[in-house]
Amino acid sequence: MPSGTPRRNDLWSLLDASWAAEEGGLDAFLHRVLERSAAHFGATGASLFLLDEDTGEFRLATKSGLDARMPDDAVILPGEGFAGKAVRTGRPLLLGPEQGGRRELTSAMVVPLVGPEGDCIGVLNLSRGTGLRTFSANDLRRARAVAGHLALAVSNAMLFRRMDEAVREARALHLRLRTVLDCLGVGMLVIDSDGRVIQHNAQFGIMTGANLVDGRAWNERPTVSRELTETLARAVGVALVGRSERRHCTSATTDRSWVVVGAPMRCGAAIAVEEVTELDRLQRETARTSRLAEIGQMTAAIAHEIRNPLTGIRTAAQLVRTCPEQSDELGRIIEEEAVKLNHLCDDFLEFARPLRLELTPVDLGEVVREVAESCRAEFDSAGVSLAVRKGGLSIIEADRRRVEQVCRNLLLNALQACERGGEVEVLVEEGRLSVVDSGAGIDDETKDKLFTPFFTTKSRGTGLGLSTVRKIVQAHGGHISVHSELGKGTSFELDFGKAA
Ligand code: ADP
Ligand code: MG
Repeated sequence: MPSGTPRRNDLWSLLDASWAAEEGGLDAFLHRVLERSAAHFGATGASLFLLDEDTGEFRLATKSGLDARMPDDAVILPGEGFAGKAVRTGRPLLLGPEQGGRRELTSAMVVPLVGPEGDCIGVLNLSRGTGLRTFSANDLRRARAVAGHLALAVSNAMLFRRMDEAVREARALHLRLRTVLDCLGVGMLVIDSDGRVIQHNAQFGIMTGANLVDGRAWNERPTVSRELTETLARAVGVALVGRSERRHCTSATTDRSWVVVGAPMRCGAAIAVEEVTELDRLQRETARTSRLAEIGQMTAAIAHEIRNPLTGIRTAAQLVRTCPEQSDELGRIIEEEAVKLNHLCDDFLEFARPLRLELTPVDLGEVVREVAESCRAEFDSAGVSLAVRKGGLSIIEADRRRVEQVCRNLLLNALQACERGGEVEVLVEEGRLSVVDSGAGIDDETKDKLFTPFFTTKSRGTGLGLSTVRKIVQAHGGHISVHSELGKGTSFELDFGKAA
């Protein structure tokens, strides 16, 4: 109990944090603190200011008696005025009427609420009106003793309010999460680090057939397919050791398929499941349709390619009959066209045959240099310059003959795209190859068809070059891309997958 005359009020019960159950919450509690402090010290006016942690200012929290006239937005700035000084020093101040600046007051006490760690969390102002006894030095001593307890009570109450708000926020978040999970078209499961179900949505049960119970092991009941159960178990295992994974699985018996995603969480994992049976079916259908379209396109292109030499052969054969004296010349034409047909068959068979690679360590730079040398004469006679640049050794694991074929195709395409005076540059760096030309460039419509077998814009082209290039690159596990600007040129960039 404070020293001096104890007054009959329960100031000390304020330390009890049962305010939260009280109607009106924190505001009502603060007002109670104020009224009881005023009663305790026999004050006729009282106000309580609390620290605003964002601005460092002290804002009016509650007021009563003579102080009720104080504007609601009143603030105390640390260091400014009597109250500001009390905040700085942490010591209560006793003010007479002239210092208080208000004529109706005989005396006032400014009591900083200083917490156990010496931080000032608020200011309690107590005043007595005219006709009343002024506050004594003893009152000030008691005020100092009481201030620490009041500070504790107020900061406890504020802490409780923050906790209460946090709990309410967490509950609201939980509810929101549940609603979101239930609206999702994806099955969701959240487990703890022991694999026990923390949360799941109805979709999870619908998609997997697993009947989950919160708090029980997620894999207590089987799913609709052995493959799905295994994929889920794998995703859970991987996520619980801190990695994310996405897997596709198909039931061999029912042909249903799912995508399972596992992601690590603090103290557990989240698993998402989506049934993609219909999507897979559509994709297969689309692939089949585009394959059929490709075959149709190829058949038309082959027929066209065969018809040209055949027309030549038929015309020459008819002429042999009517003009036998030209049979030598006509025989030559027939032979040439037959050779062309033969080449076409070779190209087609080569393209249609599955690739069988003979992998050895290959120096990509050396292959490029050799192919460039073998094409040099063609470039010279077309008046197009050819340069090879290499950045260090580029050894790759590849089929040398196929790599040569890729280089030759790209170099000849680049040459054919250039006018006299054009430039072609080949760059080899870290297993990557770029062929850059200053040719005509490629429009967007052509770009979409570049790799389609038999697509060509050339009168004497086969349209098999780039589709073969891509087939070879992909068989190596590599990747090819094209960048082009109309009128400026084109660059093909590719790699052959692994370095040796
Ligand atoms: P082909 O060379 O027999 O036409 P390709 O498959 O090698 O067949 O090329 C297909 C088409 O791609 C070419 O007809 C041409 O229109 C375009 N193309 C290929 N390379 C280039 C390039 N470097 N610059 C511009 N167009 C190109
Ligand atoms: Mg070509």
